[in-house]
Amino acid sequence: MSADRAALLVLGRYGAFESLLLGLVAASGGAESVVGDGSMVELLQSHPSVVGRLRRATEFLGSTDFVQGRAKVLASVASSRLMTACRYCGFVSPKAERFCPSCGVNRA
Ligand SMILES: [Zn+2]
Repeated sequence: MSADRAALLVLGRYGAFESLLLGLVAASGGAESVVGDGSMVELLQSHPSVVGRLRRATEFLGSTDFVQGRAKVLASVASSRLMTACRYCGFVSPKAERFCPSCGVNRA
């Protein structure tokens, strides 16, 4: 699966993906082109591959692959509510564990 498809599954909707992709393009050197009117057009002209990626994103969103993949993502998000990240080291483990398995901090 492509990174774009994975991002779509997590984000769940086109608008969020589009913002993310354009933000990434801007951050990777096109930052000047996103300032001012007509910025989107300019950005897309200087990065023609973005147009193709957005088109493929739209196609993917209409596919059963997306519907099935999204269901899996939502299921894993639901189970992740039982997990928590350590505020010191960021290690993710079940909320029920009182001490972080990675750094040993008391999480109570
Ligand atoms: Zn920790």
